[in-house]
Order: sequence, then structure tokens, then C-alpha cells
Amino acid sequence: MIELRNISKYYGSGQHAVQAIRNISLQVGQGEIFGVIGHSGAGKSTLLRCVNLLERPTSGSVHVGETELTALTERQLQKQRRKIGIIFQHFNLLSTATVRDNIAFPLKLDKQSKAEIRWRVEELLQLVGLQEHGDKYPAQLSGGQKQRVGIARALANNPDVLLCDEATSALDPQTTQSILSLLQDINEELGITILLITHEMNVIRSICDRVAVMEGGEIVEEGSVLDVFLTP
Ligand code: ADP
Ligand code: ADP
Repeated sequence: MIELRNISKYYGSGQHAVQAIRNISLQVGQGEIFGVIGHSGAGKSTLLRCVNLLERPTSGSVHVGETELTALTERQLQKQRRKIGIIFQHFNLLSTATVRDNIAFPLKLDKQSKAEIRWRVEELLQLVGLQEHGDKYPAQLSGGQKQRVGIARALANNPDVLLCDEATSALDPQTTQSILSLLQDINEELGITILLITHEMNVIRSICDRVAVMEGGEIVEEGSVLDVFLTP
């Protein structure tokens, strides 16, 4: 479902260039929950943002589903990006919009009808357990509730893939578990492939099928969670 082929990414140029990703190849199968773990600065965010081309790799190709994203024009890419949802550590909600309007945002961009949007937003509120909170503003919600809004917004256009950028790092342990179990339900019930990055081992242990360990812009180990973390 996701394939990165020999991607490298430099920030800046000349003698000040920083190489954030060094020739990484990675495949994530349809329906998998794949985790990338590593310390701060290892290149995890850059890797994740290369998957939807929020960041363009300096070299190499990115494939999602049947499409080579790195071969598309910006305009074609905009359409393909709707098939890739993303959630963030700090939620990135619009503070001046209600929960309903935050979730409706990608549907409006997609030019769906008012009736369709209204129906879909209610369905998404229910999916993430926020039926009672649709008219609130982000500031009135707990961290876990804000991430639920982030998840609903990311799923609005029925993506095939959900990218999670340190999605539980701002949450306490109990809330982290409830968000992880929601992600697991979404993976199982909707068949959405999940690629997540984290610096927390418990996130990997709780929900990932496979894991890659990143260090200095490279994948230094990769395999099933059991193989990577339980063998000596
Ligand atoms: P994280 O480790 O959670 O990704 P960072 O603090 O490393 O958070 O990065 C936060 C933001 O700052 C990101 O958007 C990243 O692209 C940007 N950033 C990180 N390092 C640099 C840098 N050396 N120069 C410019 N921007 C940077
Ligand atoms: P992680 O997510 O594992 O913390 P990042 O992908 O944020 O790692 O960063 C990898 C490397 O790239 C770090 O050295 C960071 O400082 C650098 N970096 C990240 N974003 C930028 C940016 N926008 N400009 C310059 N350097 C960056």
C-alpha cells in the first residue's frame, strides 16, 4: 500500500545541507499498522511527511496504492492526498471553528453537497465518540477529545492510509491507550493502513504489526514487533 524506494532528503543546500533521510526503502502492506521509532532528530517526521509529499524527497520515489506520487503534478497530487489522512502531535485544529466545522473542512474542500457533509460529519462524530461535543470549540475539549477530532477530520474523505505524527505524544498514558485503541478499531473495521511515528516504545508494543527503528536518517532494524524487541 505504501512503498518508499531509495528516498533521500536534504534540507538546505551546499555546505549547510542537512541530510535527514539516507536512502531509505520501505514497504507497508495493505491493512498493516506499521510503526517507526527513533530518538528526536532521527528523521521520523521527515520520513512521514515524504509519504504524502508534504516534504518532497530529494531523490527516490514514493508509491501509495497504485500511484507513484513523486511522478505527479501538484494538481494531481492534491487529489491523491485526499486518500491519505494525517494526524499530528498538537492536533492542528482550527481554534475558531467548532468540532463539526473542523471535521467538515476537508469535505468542503472536496466540494461535497451540504446535505452530504452534514450526514458524513454526524457519522464521523459517532465513529470517534464525540456525538455530544459537535458544537464545542477546540479550547473546550480535553487533549484526547481534540485528537479524536483530528482523527475524524483525517478520515472524512475515506482515506486508504492514515499517517500518525507522534499522535499520542502530547497525551497522558490513559488517554494514549484510548486513542491507540481507537486507531486499532479504525484499522480493523475500516481496513485503513496505518503508518505511525513515535519515540514511545509502548505505542509500538500496543498496536503495531511491524516496526522500523531509525537512527541518523537510516533504518537500522526492521521486522515484526516481536522479532525486533524480544530477541536478544
Ligand atoms: P519533532 O522532533 O517532533 O519533529 P522538531 O522540534 O524536530 O519536532 O521540529 C519541529 C519543526 O521544526 C518541524 O516542522 C521541522 O521540520 C522543523 N525543524 C526541525 N529542525 C529544523 C532545523 N534544523 N532547521 C529548520 N527547521 C527545523
Ligand atoms: P525526528 O522526527 O526523528 O525528530 P526530523 O525528521 O524532525 O526527525 O529531523 C531529522 C533531521 O533533519 C534533524 O537533524 C533536523 O534538525 C533536520 N530537519 C528537520 N526539518 C528540517 C527543516 N525544515 N529544515 C532543516 N533541517 C530540518
